Amino acid sequence: MSNNEKVGIMGGTFDPIHYGHLVTAETARTNFKLDRVIFTPAGRPPHKKGYAVTSSEDRYLMTMLAINNNPFFEISRMEIERPGLTYTVDTLEQFYNDLGKNVKLYFISGADAVFDILTWKDVDKVLSYCTFIAATRPGYPMEQLNQKLMQIRQIYGHQVVPMKVTSLDISSTEIRRRVKEGLSIKYLLPESVETYIRKSGLYR
Ligand code: ATP
Ligand code: MG
Repeated sequence: MSNNEKVGIMGGTFDPIHYGHLVTAETARTNFKLDRVIFTPAGRPPHKKGYAVTSSEDRYLMTMLAINNNPFFEISRMEIERPGLTYTVDTLEQFYNDLGKNVKLYFISGADAVFDILTWKDVDKVLSYCTFIAATRPGYPMEQLNQKLMQIRQIYGHQVVPMKVTSLDISSTEIRRRVKEGLSIKYLLPESVETYIRKSGLYR
Protein backbone atom coordinates (compact mmCIF):
# COMPACT_ATOMS: atom_id res chain seq x y z
CA MET A 1 0.00 0.00 0.00
CA SER A 2 1.36 3.41 -0.95
CA ASN A 3 2.37 5.92 1.71
CA ASN A 4 -0.09 8.60 2.76
CA GLU A 5 -2.98 7.10 0.91
CA LYS A 6 -6.20 9.10 1.28
CA VAL A 7 -9.23 6.94 1.84
CA GLY A 8 -12.84 8.13 2.00
CA ILE A 9 -15.38 6.25 4.10
CA MET A 10 -18.96 6.71 2.92
CA GLY A 11 -21.25 5.62 5.71
CA GLY A 12 -24.98 5.14 5.39
CA THR A 13 -27.90 2.80 5.71
CA PHE A 14 -28.30 2.76 1.92
CA ASP A 15 -31.89 1.55 2.12
CA PRO A 16 -31.68 1.91 -0.86
CA ILE A 17 -28.57 3.64 -2.20
CA HIS A 18 -29.37 6.50 -4.62
CA TYR A 19 -27.71 9.20 -6.73
CA GLY A 20 -27.51 11.59 -3.75
CA HIS A 21 -25.07 9.18 -2.07
CA LEU A 22 -23.11 8.51 -5.24
CA VAL A 23 -22.66 12.13 -6.28
CA THR A 24 -21.64 13.03 -2.70
CA ALA A 25 -18.97 10.32 -2.62
CA GLU A 26 -17.67 11.23 -6.07
CA THR A 27 -17.51 14.94 -5.19
CA ALA A 28 -15.53 14.13 -2.05
CA ARG A 29 -13.19 11.89 -4.05
CA THR A 30 -12.36 14.59 -6.57
CA ASN A 31 -12.38 17.61 -4.18
CA PHE A 32 -10.17 15.95 -1.59
CA LYS A 33 -8.09 13.93 -4.11
CA LEU A 34 -8.98 10.66 -2.40
CA ASP A 35 -7.37 7.50 -3.74
CA ARG A 36 -10.56 5.53 -3.12
CA VAL A 37 -13.88 5.63 -1.33
CA ILE A 38 -15.13 2.68 0.70
CA PHE A 39 -18.91 2.45 1.00
CA THR A 40 -19.75 0.94 4.36
CA PRO A 41 -23.40 -0.06 4.74
CA ALA A 42 -24.51 0.13 8.37
CA GLY A 43 -25.40 -3.07 10.21
CA ARG A 44 -27.89 -1.90 12.82
CA PRO A 45 -28.05 1.90 12.81
CA PRO A 46 -29.02 3.17 16.27
CA HIS A 47 -30.83 6.25 14.92
CA LYS A 48 -33.14 4.47 12.46
CA LYS A 49 -36.09 3.83 14.67
CA GLY A 50 -39.69 3.65 13.61
CA TYR A 51 -39.29 1.46 10.55
CA ALA A 52 -37.82 -1.98 9.89
CA VAL A 53 -34.51 -1.51 8.12
CA THR A 54 -34.10 -3.83 5.11
CA SER A 55 -31.81 -6.85 5.59
CA SER A 56 -28.10 -6.11 5.56
CA GLU A 57 -27.53 -8.45 2.62
CA ASP A 58 -30.09 -6.69 0.42
CA ARG A 59 -28.58 -3.30 1.25
CA TYR A 60 -25.07 -4.62 0.70
CA LEU A 61 -25.98 -6.06 -2.72
CA MET A 62 -27.74 -2.88 -3.85
CA THR A 63 -24.70 -0.84 -2.80
CA MET A 64 -22.41 -3.22 -4.68
CA LEU A 65 -24.53 -2.90 -7.85
CA ALA A 66 -24.52 0.89 -7.56
CA ILE A 67 -20.75 1.35 -7.21
CA ASN A 68 -19.79 -1.32 -9.72
CA ASN A 69 -18.91 1.04 -12.58
CA ASN A 70 -16.67 3.40 -10.59
CA PRO A 71 -13.08 2.08 -10.31
CA PHE A 72 -12.42 4.28 -7.26
CA PHE A 73 -15.39 2.96 -5.26
CA GLU A 74 -15.20 -0.09 -3.00
CA ILE A 75 -17.47 -1.69 -0.45
CA SER A 76 -16.85 -3.06 3.03
CA ARG A 77 -18.78 -5.65 5.03
CA MET A 78 -17.25 -4.33 8.24
CA GLU A 79 -20.37 -2.76 9.72
CA ILE A 80 -22.82 -5.43 8.65
CA GLU A 81 -20.62 -8.10 10.19
CA ARG A 82 -20.03 -6.35 13.51
CA PRO A 83 -22.50 -7.59 16.12
CA GLY A 84 -24.68 -5.08 17.98
CA LEU A 85 -25.58 -1.54 17.04
CA THR A 86 -23.44 0.22 14.43
CA TYR A 87 -21.36 3.14 15.68
CA THR A 88 -19.12 5.20 13.39
CA VAL A 89 -16.44 5.44 16.08
CA ASP A 90 -15.95 1.64 15.98
CA THR A 91 -15.78 1.68 12.18
CA LEU A 92 -13.17 4.42 12.06
CA GLU A 93 -11.13 2.70 14.74
CA GLN A 94 -11.24 -0.57 12.80
CA PHE A 95 -10.26 1.09 9.50
CA TYR A 96 -7.52 2.96 11.31
CA ASN A 97 -6.12 -0.30 12.69
CA ASP A 98 -6.60 -2.29 9.47
CA LEU A 99 -5.21 0.24 7.01
CA GLY A 100 -2.25 1.44 9.02
CA LYS A 101 -0.97 4.79 10.17
CA ASN A 102 0.09 6.02 6.73
CA VAL A 103 -3.50 6.15 5.58
CA LYS A 104 -5.46 9.34 6.08
CA LEU A 105 -9.18 8.73 6.64
CA TYR A 106 -11.96 11.02 5.41
CA PHE A 107 -15.46 10.35 6.69
CA ILE A 108 -18.06 11.54 4.20
CA SER A 109 -21.44 12.53 5.52
CA GLY A 110 -24.42 14.68 4.59
CA ALA A 111 -25.37 17.88 6.40
CA ASP A 112 -28.32 16.20 8.17
CA ALA A 113 -25.97 13.78 9.91
CA VAL A 114 -23.81 16.67 11.06
CA PHE A 115 -26.80 18.28 12.79
CA ASP A 116 -27.11 15.08 14.85
CA ILE A 117 -23.43 14.64 15.50
CA LEU A 118 -23.55 15.82 19.10
CA THR A 119 -25.67 12.75 19.87
CA TRP A 120 -23.14 10.32 18.37
CA LYS A 121 -21.14 7.93 20.48
CA ASP A 122 -17.63 9.29 21.24
CA VAL A 123 -17.86 12.29 18.86
CA ASP A 124 -14.49 13.48 20.05
CA LYS A 125 -12.84 10.22 19.00
CA VAL A 126 -14.73 10.17 15.69
CA LEU A 127 -13.38 13.61 14.87
CA SER A 128 -9.85 12.70 15.85
CA TYR A 129 -9.69 9.59 13.64
CA CYS A 130 -10.63 11.36 10.41
CA THR A 131 -11.16 14.50 8.45
CA PHE A 132 -14.92 14.79 8.74
CA ILE A 133 -16.60 16.07 5.58
CA ALA A 134 -20.08 17.60 5.76
CA ALA A 135 -21.78 17.65 2.37
CA THR A 136 -24.56 20.12 1.63
CA ARG A 137 -27.97 18.53 1.20
CA PRO A 138 -31.26 20.16 0.15
CA GLY A 139 -33.13 21.40 3.21
CA TYR A 140 -29.94 22.20 5.14
CA PRO A 141 -28.83 25.73 4.20
CA MET A 142 -25.11 26.41 4.07
CA GLU A 143 -25.42 29.22 6.66
CA GLN A 144 -27.01 26.93 9.22
CA LEU A 145 -24.45 24.25 8.44
CA ASN A 146 -21.57 26.67 8.95
CA GLN A 147 -23.03 27.72 12.31
CA LYS A 148 -23.18 24.11 13.38
CA LEU A 149 -19.61 23.53 12.23
CA MET A 150 -18.47 26.51 14.30
CA GLN A 151 -20.25 25.10 17.33
CA ILE A 152 -18.57 21.70 16.85
CA ARG A 153 -15.21 23.39 16.57
CA GLN A 154 -15.79 25.34 19.77
CA ILE A 155 -16.82 22.25 21.71
CA TYR A 156 -14.31 19.74 20.37
CA GLY A 157 -11.49 21.76 18.89
CA HIS A 158 -11.80 19.71 15.70
CA GLN A 159 -12.73 21.05 12.33
CA VAL A 160 -15.51 19.57 10.20
CA VAL A 161 -15.01 20.56 6.59
CA PRO A 162 -18.03 21.69 4.57
CA MET A 163 -18.35 20.47 0.99
CA LYS A 164 -20.73 21.83 -1.61
CA VAL A 165 -22.47 19.09 -3.56
CA THR A 166 -24.80 19.47 -6.56
CA SER A 167 -28.24 19.53 -4.94
CA LEU A 168 -30.16 16.33 -5.46
CA ASP A 169 -33.31 16.32 -3.42
CA ILE A 170 -33.40 12.53 -3.17
CA SER A 171 -33.77 10.43 -0.03
CA SER A 172 -34.11 6.71 0.61
CA THR A 173 -37.28 7.46 2.59
CA GLU A 174 -38.85 9.08 -0.48
CA ILE A 175 -37.78 6.16 -2.70
CA ARG A 176 -39.28 3.62 -0.27
CA ARG A 177 -42.50 5.65 -0.18
CA ARG A 178 -42.68 5.83 -3.96
CA VAL A 179 -42.21 2.07 -4.36
CA LYS A 180 -44.90 1.41 -1.77
CA GLU A 181 -47.30 3.68 -3.64
CA GLY A 182 -46.43 2.16 -7.00
CA LEU A 183 -44.78 5.35 -8.31
CA SER A 184 -41.75 5.48 -10.58
CA ILE A 185 -38.26 5.67 -9.06
CA LYS A 186 -36.51 5.86 -12.41
CA TYR A 187 -33.57 8.34 -12.57
CA LEU A 188 -33.39 8.64 -8.79
CA LEU A 189 -30.98 5.73 -8.47
CA PRO A 190 -28.95 3.43 -10.77
CA GLU A 191 -31.02 1.21 -13.04
CA SER A 192 -29.34 -1.92 -11.64
CA VAL A 193 -30.62 -1.04 -8.16
CA GLU A 194 -34.08 -0.24 -9.49
CA THR A 195 -34.18 -3.65 -11.17
CA TYR A 196 -33.01 -5.34 -7.96
CA ILE A 197 -35.78 -3.63 -5.98
CA ARG A 198 -38.39 -4.69 -8.51
CA LYS A 199 -37.23 -8.31 -8.74
CA SER A 200 -36.83 -8.82 -4.99
CA GLY A 201 -40.12 -7.10 -4.16
CA LEU A 202 -38.49 -4.75 -1.66
CA TYR A 203 -40.42 -1.82 -0.12
CA ARG A 204 -43.83 -3.01 -1.26
P1 ATP B 1 -33.19 7.83 4.86
O1 ATP B 1 -34.22 8.69 4.22
O2 ATP B 1 -33.59 6.42 5.05
O3 ATP B 1 -32.57 8.44 6.10
P2 ATP B 1 -31.01 8.86 3.25
O4 ATP B 1 -31.38 9.23 1.86
O5 ATP B 1 -30.87 9.98 4.25
O6 ATP B 1 -31.99 7.74 3.78
P3 ATP B 1 -28.77 7.54 4.42
O7 ATP B 1 -28.38 6.14 4.13
O8 ATP B 1 -29.46 7.85 5.69
O9 ATP B 1 -29.69 8.03 3.18
O10 ATP B 1 -27.56 8.53 4.23
C1 ATP B 1 -26.21 8.17 4.20
C2 ATP B 1 -25.38 9.44 4.11
O11 ATP B 1 -25.59 10.09 2.85
C3 ATP B 1 -25.75 10.47 5.17
O12 ATP B 1 -24.56 11.09 5.62
C4 ATP B 1 -26.63 11.45 4.40
O13 ATP B 1 -26.56 12.73 4.97
C5 ATP B 1 -26.00 11.42 3.03
N1 ATP B 1 -26.99 11.74 1.97
C6 ATP B 1 -28.10 11.05 1.67
N2 ATP B 1 -28.78 11.60 0.66
C7 ATP B 1 -28.08 12.69 0.29
C8 ATP B 1 -28.29 13.71 -0.72
N3 ATP B 1 -29.36 13.70 -1.51
N4 ATP B 1 -27.36 14.69 -0.82
C9 ATP B 1 -26.28 14.70 0.02
N5 ATP B 1 -26.03 13.78 0.98
C10 ATP B 1 -26.91 12.78 1.13
MG1 MG C 1 -30.78 9.56 6.32
